[in-house]
Amino acid sequence: MKYYSTNGKAPMADLQKAVVKGLAEDRGLYMPERIEKLPKAFFENIQDMSFQDIAYNVASNFFGEDVDGDALQDIVFDTLSFDCPVVKVKDNIYTLELFHGPTLAFKDVGARFMARLLGYFLRRGGSERAANRTVNVLVATSGDTGSAVANGFLGVEGIHVYVLYPKGKVSPIQECQFTTLGKNITAIEVDGVFDDCQALVKSAFMDEELNKHMKLTSANSINVARFLPQAFYYFNAYARMKALDLADEFVMCVPSGNFGNICSALFGHEMGLPIKRFIAANNANDIFYKYLQTGKYEPKASVQTLANAMDVGDPSNFARILNLYSQNGALVEEATHHRICNLIYGATYSDEQIKKAMRQCYNETGYILDPHGACGYRALQENLKPGEIGVFCETAHPAKFKEKVDDILNINIDIPARLRAFMEGEKQSVEMSKDFADFKAYLMKQ
Ligand SMILES: *Cc1c(COP(=O)(O)O)cnc(C)c1O
Repeated sequence: MKYYSTNGKAPMADLQKAVVKGLAEDRGLYMPERIEKLPKAFFENIQDMSFQDIAYNVASNFFGEDVDGDALQDIVFDTLSFDCPVVKVKDNIYTLELFHGPTLAFKDVGARFMARLLGYFLRRGGSERAANRTVNVLVATSGDTGSAVANGFLGVEGIHVYVLYPKGKVSPIQECQFTTLGKNITAIEVDGVFDDCQALVKSAFMDEELNKHMKLTSANSINVARFLPQAFYYFNAYARMKALDLADEFVMCVPSGNFGNICSALFGHEMGLPIKRFIAANNANDIFYKYLQTGKYEPKASVQTLANAMDVGDPSNFARILNLYSQNGALVEEATHHRICNLIYGATYSDEQIKKAMRQCYNETGYILDPHGACGYRALQENLKPGEIGVFCETAHPAKFKEKVDDILNINIDIPARLRAFMEGEKQSVEMSKDFADFKAYLMKQ
């Protein structure tokens, strides 16, 4: 399979190049040249298949030409060593719990899959191996991405990960998930804010001398190996709902920030997954919502909210969504907007509305929402039509946001054993100023 750039000015890439480079030369996002429909028989029997088997079928559809079958099966099965159940919350509202992975966040699946796929390419040989150099993954994080990527890549041979995070600005629970790992994971504590971390990473990718010295790559959600595997979730949701005979008028609601997760669901839809329509639930960062209303995409600086993993003012995967619904790659703005509006509905919620949804859901059903999932819950509650069944993603375990959740619901939520184990490890980090010269000097010594 070849991958083209959404900006249309870069050469086509094979999967290995798309994964190792992340972004195309023209700064566009890679898109697969074809999206094959899965056979009818697959959907007829899907309710009897395990999450892992479903995922392997979906993965083969995208990666089967480029990755040997047994290896792909190992990568998929090893990535999905946990479940993602559908749980009834109330009436016609269900939740797809995406937080049963190692760091209790949905990003675990993409991070683990990408780490294993990169590991496969390095072992298999080819240009990367010939140079016999370690691949260095740089990732800037405001909390959640760093832990998922660090844990996903932990112990993968031939890869070293540098996690840059703003000193004192991530929660203690988040920090311990990437500072206590050791091995091939280095946590870099930057004296600055998240934007400084991101600027350091961007400068590093653009620095010629540094790129000659070491092989650098990124693991953010624009990477095809990180966002596409999230489609597994939606096939599984459909299967579990079909087993309950509830999949006919199935609406999928995805709390969204960079729009990688919902984008993978849309790819699933293009592969034939019978989801009736989608709802993108946003916090106060309402750029996509406004696009649906007006047809104009106007990125702006993000605002801080309770659902901070969705504080994005210029969602990077928007370009993929536009590309997916533009005819033959030609961007006829009105037609594209029309197609997108026919399939995706938008919602946006203030912190007050998020809190209200959390309280109302807890009091009425006992289910504890995290602030991100709360946007999804509320969007379904307000927008489901008679006869429709809605499933929203719970994108993180509520205990990851313990201080906020306890405060809003007036409870004392248990910290799962897996999270507690991280908290017992010893913090190791490298202190760094926000000056690129310092960061570069440090990397040049590695
Ligand atoms: C990353 C994240 C999101 C947003 O997902 P996107 O793919 O960026 O839209 C939502 N909730 C949580 C908890 C996250 O960590």
